[in-house]
Amino acid sequence: MTRSLEPTDIVEITTGAGVDAPVHGWRAKCLQRLVRMDLPVPRSHAISARAVRAIAQGVTADTAALGALFADGCGLVSVRPSAVMPEWGGPGTVLNVGVNDAQHARLVETRGKDAADAIYLGFVQSYAINVARLDPDMFSEDGEGALERALAAYRAEMDEDFPQDPVRQLTEVLRSMARAWDAPTARLLRQAKGAPEDAPLGLVVQQMALAIGPGLTGSGTIQMIDSVTGMRRMTGRFKGQMQGRARGQGAETLYLTRDERGPSLEELAPEVFADLVGYCLAARTRLRDEMQIEFVISDGELAIIDALRVQRSSRAAVRIAVSLAEDGIIPTEEAVMRVEPRALSELMHYQIDPRAPRDIIARGIDASPGAATGKIVFTAAAAQASAMRGEDCILVRRETVPEDIRGMHAAVGVLTERGGMTSHAAVIARGLGLPCIVGANGISIDARARELRVGGRSFREGEEITIDGTSGEVLAGSAQLLEPALDESFNRLLDWADAFRDMGVRANADTPEDARTARMFKAQGIGLCRTEHMFFDEMRLPIMREMIFADRPEDRKVALARLLPIQRQDFVELFRIMAGLPVTIRLFDPPLHEFLPQDRDGMRELAESLDLPLSDVTRRIEALSEFNPMLGMRGVRLGITVPEIYDMQARAIFEATIASAAAGAVVVPEIMIPLVSARREVEIVKTRVDAVAAALRNETGRDFAYRLGVMVETPRAALRAGDIARHAAFLSFGTNDLTQMTYGLSRDDAGRFMGAYVQQRVYDEDPFHILDEDGVGELLLTGTQRARAAHPDITIAVCGEHGGNPQSIAFCQRAGLDYVSCSPFRVPVARLAAAQESIRNRGEKSA
Ligand code: PEP
Ligand code: MG
Repeated sequence: MTRSLEPTDIVEITTGAGVDAPVHGWRAKCLQRLVRMDLPVPRSHAISARAVRAIAQGVTADTAALGALFADGCGLVSVRPSAVMPEWGGPGTVLNVGVNDAQHARLVETRGKDAADAIYLGFVQSYAINVARLDPDMFSEDGEGALERALAAYRAEMDEDFPQDPVRQLTEVLRSMARAWDAPTARLLRQAKGAPEDAPLGLVVQQMALAIGPGLTGSGTIQMIDSVTGMRRMTGRFKGQMQGRARGQGAETLYLTRDERGPSLEELAPEVFADLVGYCLAARTRLRDEMQIEFVISDGELAIIDALRVQRSSRAAVRIAVSLAEDGIIPTEEAVMRVEPRALSELMHYQIDPRAPRDIIARGIDASPGAATGKIVFTAAAAQASAMRGEDCILVRRETVPEDIRGMHAAVGVLTERGGMTSHAAVIARGLGLPCIVGANGISIDARARELRVGGRSFREGEEITIDGTSGEVLAGSAQLLEPALDESFNRLLDWADAFRDMGVRANADTPEDARTARMFKAQGIGLCRTEHMFFDEMRLPIMREMIFADRPEDRKVALARLLPIQRQDFVELFRIMAGLPVTIRLFDPPLHEFLPQDRDGMRELAESLDLPLSDVTRRIEALSEFNPMLGMRGVRLGITVPEIYDMQARAIFEATIASAAAGAVVVPEIMIPLVSARREVEIVKTRVDAVAAALRNETGRDFAYRLGVMVETPRAALRAGDIARHAAFLSFGTNDLTQMTYGLSRDDAGRFMGAYVQQRVYDEDPFHILDEDGVGELLLTGTQRARAAHPDITIAVCGEHGGNPQSIAFCQRAGLDYVSCSPFRVPVARLAAAQESIRNRGEKSA
């Protein structure tokens, strides 16, 4: 099939030509910018995506139009892919199209036989493998006689001579590239990088600047920034007598700048080098990014053949965006938009050096980012002992339970066989900023043999492993780690982000250390203090157990009276650190049995300390055990049935409020009731809390204000939010439980099959990780709308783990929530994600 190409199908890339990224691809557009900068770019043409698609379907472009592409130069051209976005990739570049026997003879005269052979051989190899699809092994040779052998092999395999007509060569190259773009694996790869299903491909045909030949000749790349650190450092190389797969005689790699280890381009050709540096710096300003420039020097003459955005790690992305804005090259708003929010979490933690090799032994859910190397320990006690010896350890457990918290504090990382995004280990690790992988597929722990087994390998206690909580990979042995990069650029970017952000960001903080981290990352308050975590302390646990074992309310009150001053001091400390910022304290939430020992030794110890027969203790523990504790006696249900606990907590909060006021810090504490499902629960708890406040005002003669709010974490509470809102100053969606209950999916066990579910597209994503906008999101929108209709001034927030996920944060902002609250280490991510959503919304409104 032959057809005439339309004028827009092949466009010469000149300053004024109509070259558009959506039509001709980013590379064509980028080359046009280089041309406009007056850089020495060889004559180039853009072939439109429409034409490429037609070529893929068998349409043959007309000979005259293609023949014209070889005119006015050395008679050879290259073909490069030009997708709309560089990250969508494309088929490999083909160099030296047009070389044939006649061209070869001419090249022998102008460049010598070696150079001519290398250029011809390079093309024959590339054509044979990529276009004719012959066995690469037959075309892998180089050196003396290789060209003749390659031509003979081609003839033998194809039953014809190597094509001599440049237009035929070009037609076949264009067709093979167009078809390679349509291959299923190529589609999948680019779709994973965000390309649409029918992503177009343009192609660029460029006159060859030959990098093999006499004098100073070769090809290279240069960039002014280190791709890993983002620091200003020239990197790149110059490959003398080399281009693509072709290697001429005397091929060698040179340093760019003076280097004692060997010769450099700077020494050999100072003027060419200076031009190159000048072009690279100019490209940064004109293309508004750090660019990697690809160049060819042909007998001392410089040609700029291509430019790419510099590849960059997360930390480099932040530094580059900030420095471009500081230099006035891009506005701060654009710098804020250029950094992926999740990239920030990599900067806050140790990271495995991307250049280092990885011996991956297992993969799991990336529950808390950062990397850590340590010796394997299997119990919390061993973790503590290891920390005492000053040895880094990774706590490896089937799953963690609240008692493990001290072990988690002592470890540098946590790995569990079971669990999901919101299971205990995951939530605690994120709060501590501790790298953590949960639900690690295929690992098995033999606690007795003190061995971790995985994929036919076994690792004993004390052996070193590395976990990468950012990628979910478990590695054997130690790894080269990069330090966190909480530097000037990081802070500056976030300060800029705050200026654009509409929605508040608070932190989930249970301890003074969490609160200090929250302040360091500029959280606007605490949106969730899970008070139960305060009772796992060694000193407090026995009193807590005494309280649980009390048979009569009077006895319970005695134990609670001992907990009161401790709890008061917790809040005084939190209020002090938060210095007047709002603090939301959630009343006691978990089932009581979580505070009781699980094994026989623990029960015996408890019997001793309570001076009770062991049988009493076991009976009591049995009585407290539930078939389904997460749906049992927990949250507000405890508040209704064992009200003394909430009374004590309310008193501790108010006493701390009074003490803080006396110290000069006015605090309006926010008290939050968990797991509500009915309005009446709120009424009952509110009446008691108000009574505690009134009593205290009477006793002390001091007044204070407080706000009472409700956690919306059951579907019913979301549906009845209108009713509930009338009794609440604020609502906070606990999206962890809300997801668990909406799906009827245990948050602690989901990790077991989540992988299979996501793989088979039953769920698009793990709903504990990214908020399910269709289901849980609808409950959130319905609840918000009903609550606001009943109580227009009510504050509405999200405090589940989704509050730290960029996609979910964007949803919360669109839902009109007042703030999100997330783990302290996610606060920077949330600040950036919320700012980006505000900027996007403004853009849409003004469009
Ligand atoms: C929630 O359920 O979303 C929540 C924040 O509470 P927790 O994770 O403590 O159950
Ligand atoms: Mg909850």
